[in-house]
Amino acid sequence: MAKEGFAVSGPGEYLPDATEGITCVEDLPKPKVIARSRNFSHRPCPRCGKSCFRNRTVTRTLHDLGDLVSNRPHEIHLVYSQHQCTRCEKFFNADTSDYAPPKAHYTRRVVSVAVRLVVEDGLPYQSASWHLWRNHRVFVPYATIQNWVEAGGKKGGRPSGRLSRLGAG
Ligand SMILES: [Zn+2]
Repeated sequence: MAKEGFAVSGPGEYLPDATEGITCVEDLPKPKVIARSRNFSHRPCPRCGKSCFRNRTVTRTLHDLGDLVSNRPHEIHLVYSQHQCTRCEKFFNADTSDYAPPKAHYTRRVVSVAVRLVVEDGLPYQSASWHLWRNHRVFVPYATIQNWVEAGGKKGGRPSGRLSRLGAG
């Protein structure tokens, strides 16, 4: 009712993909940057529990699921603090593992959707890659999806000793 006269495309309406035919990543729509923070002045040391000062801040860039309303990918700029324990003489980071495993470039949400497309829906890697772009506006090379699936050890039901790599980084 309130939406009457508003140009919302209904379900089933055919809209061609505006990015059809684009072959170069640089030509894709610019991502929407979403700022997130895990930046703390103090954090307890994971070894001894001592409250430790922030040493510096670091920014991780993570590709997240985008949206088809703005037609843009989402890129999370996650600022986190690095701390130094003077007692243990160790550095440690504020925990960002709820967003993504260490060193990962994609959020956990992207990984789980990608793995589901292959393992549950049976899509080939290349189709899964295209699906992620077309329906979620996140560009993931199919070889990356393959790594995720194989790290999960689910495809083909073969047990894999690399299960821990997905979470441990
Ligand atoms: Zn400590």
